[in-house]
Amino acid sequence: MVRKAKEVYPLIPVRDIVIFPYMVVPLFIGRERSVKALEELMNRDDIKKELVLVTQKDPEVEEPDIDDLYEIGTIAHLVQLYKLPDGTIKILVEGFTRAKIIDIVHKDPFYKVEVEKLKDRKMRGYKMRMEALMRSVLEEFEKYIKLNKKVPPETILTVANIEDPGRFSDIVASHLLIRTIEKQKLLATTSIYKRLSELLKILTNENSILELEEKIQGKVRKELERTQREYYLREQLRIIQQELGREDDVLSEIREYKERIKKAKLPREVEEKALKEVKRLERMPPMAAEGAVVRNYLDWILSLPWNVKTRDILDIKRAEKILNEDHYGLEKVKERILEYLAVKKLTKTLKGPILCFVGPPGVGKTSLAKSIARSLGRKFVRMSLGGVRDEAEIRGHRRTYVGALPGRIIQYMKQAKSKNPVFLMDEVDKMSTDFRGDPSAALLEVLDPEQNNEFVDHYLEVPFDLSDVMFITTANVLYTIPQPLQDRMEIIHIPGYTDVEKFHIAKQFLIPKQLKLHGLDEKILAFTDQALYKIIREYTKEAGVRNLEKNIAAICRKVAKEIVSNGKKKKQIKVNSLKIEKYLGPPKFKRDEKEEKDEIGVATGLAWTQFGGEILSVEAVIMPGKGKLILTGQLGDVMQESAQAALSYIRSKSEEFNISPEFFEKHDIHIHVPEGAIPKDGPSAGITMATSMVSVLTNNPVRKDVAMTGEITLRGKVLPIGGLKEKILAAYQAGIKEVILPLKNEKDLVEIPETIRKKIKIELVENIDQVLRIALLNKEEKGE
Ligand code: ADP
Repeated sequence: MVRKAKEVYPLIPVRDIVIFPYMVVPLFIGRERSVKALEELMNRDDIKKELVLVTQKDPEVEEPDIDDLYEIGTIAHLVQLYKLPDGTIKILVEGFTRAKIIDIVHKDPFYKVEVEKLKDRKMRGYKMRMEALMRSVLEEFEKYIKLNKKVPPETILTVANIEDPGRFSDIVASHLLIRTIEKQKLLATTSIYKRLSELLKILTNENSILELEEKIQGKVRKELERTQREYYLREQLRIIQQELGREDDVLSEIREYKERIKKAKLPREVEEKALKEVKRLERMPPMAAEGAVVRNYLDWILSLPWNVKTRDILDIKRAEKILNEDHYGLEKVKERILEYLAVKKLTKTLKGPILCFVGPPGVGKTSLAKSIARSLGRKFVRMSLGGVRDEAEIRGHRRTYVGALPGRIIQYMKQAKSKNPVFLMDEVDKMSTDFRGDPSAALLEVLDPEQNNEFVDHYLEVPFDLSDVMFITTANVLYTIPQPLQDRMEIIHIPGYTDVEKFHIAKQFLIPKQLKLHGLDEKILAFTDQALYKIIREYTKEAGVRNLEKNIAAICRKVAKEIVSNGKKKKQIKVNSLKIEKYLGPPKFKRDEKEEKDEIGVATGLAWTQFGGEILSVEAVIMPGKGKLILTGQLGDVMQESAQAALSYIRSKSEEFNISPEFFEKHDIHIHVPEGAIPKDGPSAGITMATSMVSVLTNNPVRKDVAMTGEITLRGKVLPIGGLKEKILAAYQAGIKEVILPLKNEKDLVEIPETIRKKIKIELVENIDQVLRIALLNKEEKGE
């Protein structure tokens, strides 16, 4: 500090402002001593119009003593003075230098003090740092002005142009809105560097506080704006609705939905979801397109049987009676169904494996399921899975889809109107998979008793309990059903019927049913037994009785028309086999197709198709070539392998068959199997292919009245096959006299009705040699 000569000045204490050098401020002076000091200054020309301004430590003190004042003040010029009518004086002062108060010379009539002028201290070699510091301060100050709206923005222009760091710091300090004590501290700092550092500290601190404040205010403002906006919009909406006179409609609809939901006693989760949707509806303008979607959804929810159940009748005697009432024969099947129901009764639950009826069309799978429903006293629904290839068909589409609906399961549950119907899924074997997802996976979930109490349809979004549903499935063939699905099901095979069985079914069930449907009775229309057999044998070719029923219906129709159009008096019409041709036209199928001759290279096989058994001719020819085996017709991989195995067997035995080994190198063999058989049934054509090949290779004709089925191994063993009953029925219908079967299938022969066994000779074989001995005509010529 550079000491200077002591000087004496009048003093005016100020209460809550710190005056910095270069600062121009107006002040209102009221205290008597201060007024006197000013008067003295004004009245005497010989003294400079300068005074000392010092801040009081405590603004409340009226007559401060030296201890009540800060030590450092500012010497200022008196620029202007203006007397106000009430005796106070308004002055304008401009500070110019810091001063330290040494002592009070006198207190009365005004304060006079002895001071020491203080100069700013500059530090040498700090030029660069000082410059940097000034810039930082300026930057923060700029920010400060932006954040603090109370400092006029043009200040920044004035401040930015100041080059002298001392002056710069004082002017910046004078503009800060901070506590007096902090300002005073700045005033007391004579080192410019220190002052700038302190300023920077204060500014950054202030700025972060201001920023935080702004953020908080911003949030509050936003929140306020949002609620105001919403209120405003809602109010507008309400008025529009009122104007349109729709408010009441909407309200009553909402009320109605709420009541219906309450009454429906939905599961908790479902109820919550439904009420949420009602709330959405409430908020929507009445004409909104989305409103329809929500209403549709609510209607679906409210139409489902969430807790409606029928009471089960678990009476085995009754069930047996009903099954017999509705179906002829099928003893084994009925017994299995009754066993199944008995177990259910004992375990008191209907969970567990799902019944799956497998068999050709028209054998009564659907009507058995209906009878089960009837005997249990349950509702019945039937859904066809044929051609279902999209997972969404089972599980529904999400509501975001245009025109979305629940999947079929839920649709049928709605139709069932109870949560425990007998639910028939027809044709599980006809489901297919493609890019739209695997429906069988969804079906698995539906059928799994562990999962199906929480079945979630994409449309409903809430789980529906399917665990009380009794699922029954049907299929024509098993092999297309995915294995995991098969594992869930208890498979019950229903093979086809014999002519006699069909005859009884027609007589006891189909005719009475069709007569009733056509408004006739047996007094008006009767069939002779021969006529029925003629329909069965010459107009239908099927394992079941569907076409038989159709033909009977056709006759009923025609008779009804005759009666109505001729106005005949009601005389009984008896349909005999002669009249059949009149009603149904010429016969469509002639039995005894085996009028053809025994041929070389053509063997008759028995195959299994979706529609039951089938006979098929396997043909073989040889031609010059390179030893290739050509296969045509409908042949799956398995069939190809069977053919290859048969050929290999023949080649390994070429000596016995009297065929030179070179023969195979110079010839191709072509085998043709007509289509019809299902790919999985390939192996059962094994011995047939072998027989036709041996026939053509050895030039021996094959007996036309013999049919055969069996798989062949490389060593010529004959292995068992499936679908025995269907195959033998087909052979019988085709007029075959003798059937060659694998010995291992002997146990299955019990399935074959006695009437048929009497008519067909059954040969059980273990190896291909036995087959050839029976099927080829003049085997002995080969000198075996
Ligand atoms: P699936 O479902 O196996 O294709 P359906 O159940 O539709 O066959 O049967 C076709 C028709 O044949 C139905 O009218 C059914 O009542 C009748 N039916 C089939 N089998 C019998 C049977 N054993 N006894 C009485 N009617 C039968």
